[in-house]
Amino acid sequence: MKEYTRSPLPESHTPGDPATCTDPCLCEICSAVLEFPTGHDYETETVPPTYTDFG
Ligand SMILES: [Zn+2]
Repeated sequence: MKEYTRSPLPESHTPGDPATCTDPCLCEICSAVLEFPTGHDYETETVPPTYTDFG
């Protein structure tokens, strides 16, 4: 399990890629964690969407 250090002053950082289910939003400058991963249910395996239902 990964551990992240949360910055006390996120306003002073430059946010990089937005947080996803598994990846945090990191500062582009110092890699501080600005937002933790939004992860919903780690016990559930990711199920790929079925594009065949569309159309
Ligand atoms: Zn920073």
